[in-house]
Amino acid sequence: MENEVVSKNFIEQEIDKDLAEGVYDHVCTRFPPEPNGYLHIGHAKSILLNYGLSKKYNGTFHMRFDDTNPTKERMEFVDSIKEDIQWLGADWKDHLYFASDYFDTMYECALKLIRKGKAYVCDLSAEQIREYRGTLTEPGKESPYRNRSVEENLELFQNMRDGKYQDGEKVLRAKIDMASPNINMRDPVIYRVARMTHHNTGDKWCIYPMYDFAHPIEDAVEGITHSICTLEFEDHRPLYDWVVQECEFENRPRQIEFAKLYLTNVVTGKRYIKKLVEDGIVDGWDDPRLVSIAALRRRGFTPESIQMFIEMCGVSKAQSSVDYAMLEYCIREDLKLKKSRMMAVLDPIKLVIDNYPEGQVEYLDVPNNLENEELGTRKVPFGRELYIEREDFMEVPPKKYFRLFPDNEVRLMSAYFVKCTSFEKDAEGNITTVHCTYDPETKSGSGFTGRKVKGTIHWVYAPTAHRAEVRLYENLVDEEKGVYNKEDGSLNLNPNSLTILKDCYVEPSFENAKAYDSFQFVRNGYFCIDAKDSKPEALVFNRIVSLKSSFKLPK
Ligand code: ATP
Ligand code: MG
Repeated sequence: MENEVVSKNFIEQEIDKDLAEGVYDHVCTRFPPEPNGYLHIGHAKSILLNYGLSKKYNGTFHMRFDDTNPTKERMEFVDSIKEDIQWLGADWKDHLYFASDYFDTMYECALKLIRKGKAYVCDLSAEQIREYRGTLTEPGKESPYRNRSVEENLELFQNMRDGKYQDGEKVLRAKIDMASPNINMRDPVIYRVARMTHHNTGDKWCIYPMYDFAHPIEDAVEGITHSICTLEFEDHRPLYDWVVQECEFENRPRQIEFAKLYLTNVVTGKRYIKKLVEDGIVDGWDDPRLVSIAALRRRGFTPESIQMFIEMCGVSKAQSSVDYAMLEYCIREDLKLKKSRMMAVLDPIKLVIDNYPEGQVEYLDVPNNLENEELGTRKVPFGRELYIEREDFMEVPPKKYFRLFPDNEVRLMSAYFVKCTSFEKDAEGNITTVHCTYDPETKSGSGFTGRKVKGTIHWVYAPTAHRAEVRLYENLVDEEKGVYNKEDGSLNLNPNSLTILKDCYVEPSFENAKAYDSFQFVRNGYFCIDAKDSKPEALVFNRIVSLKSSFKLPK
């Protein structure tokens, strides 16, 4: 290798150490979502981190649905989650697992603990268990059922399994230490009675394992080496290790925690996104204003842009919040050289070139991307009547306004110089039409050097233009106020998060455009074909991002 400086994140450093010390001889990671909602940008971090590590260390990556809690899970989400992960570029090959497939193993583990005197059936109610648990400053109190015999526990646990008790009547608890400074170790509940039908196992079980018991078993069964999770599980790690050890698994996975990804002033939590969807504030989980993966894709983000973003965020143990502008920077960078730069007028007024022959159409050669010649050129029709942006004409221009105003000359992008001769207004005083004359000598690419103009504006030839709907987005949240209302915890919504422009005109070059295809609209930003609502005869575009940014790359 050359003198390449590779800086490793703290997880990679830990893995290097484990490999060097022979703790593991390979790397196996997993992404374990609960199928109870769509994935969001935070999950993308976890997916790309785990998948990336498996690639880097030539290891294995497991996709595992953590479907041990039958209340909240819906199969609907399994497919969307798989689709999102594949779209992001992660590949689990044939390592697709469902935690519910391990219910038998988990049950066996529970029996093993009971036989070892490490678990007991407890009759305290949920509320009593909470009371007995103690606080951060006070030790807990032992349950009166803590010292039941192994035989009695085995029998009662069997009864739990056989459906002899109501929900909540009895639980199985790990027998650890009621005086532990770590509350998670104060005899946590590991199995509960819940008469619920599970989407995978049906009515086979009426007892279900708790997360802290189930998760380490899932990892151990699959031979996961590094179980990477977010910081809130740091305090659960001693319990994780306890379960793995007491259940006597040969391969012992190791839990490593990192800080969650947060975006400043952006709603990320599954719970909150769900509420926005349920309250009808957004148009489903894939509303382009959200940061679910489905929404980002519909908005026009690419897997590459999200990979770049996650890479830039880095991995750390320190909780921090990243600016949405960084995500915008990444999509601009990704699209800049890849996408054609098209002409689209979002707020149209007519421009008539009075000295251009009526009925004549010429097809101009327009480069698709001036920074990337490989994208070639396209033919764009041009003639007497065009649409231009309303803001590109002013009756009384302010200083330094170089676009159209009476007697001023500008360049029509990739076409000719035109000079404004007059304009028309409607009854309300709005400009409707601007009249110009053009100079045939000034055709783009002709080498004309006679004189210069200061402004260049874009346009669309009116007779062949396609009318399109364009949706502009702003943050869902009112950034001045912050995400949550301090009084009642509700969201501070931005009333202008969606603007729909119904009367836009695009050049006729979008005939073969498909859902998710994206383009630059010169001067207006990057746009993509909306996957839900766009039709070939009635195009709908989402603005992904505008062209300008105040975002500065961190050094
Ligand atoms: P949410 O907090 O949005 O409700 P969750 O943690 O309940 O998400 P899970 O399905 O349990 O969602 O998460 C699957 C994996 O994704 C977990 O390993 C979790 O730690 C990780 N994860 C969730 N949110 C983030 C985030 N913001 N940043 C990084 N990883 C995350
Ligand atoms: Mg969760």
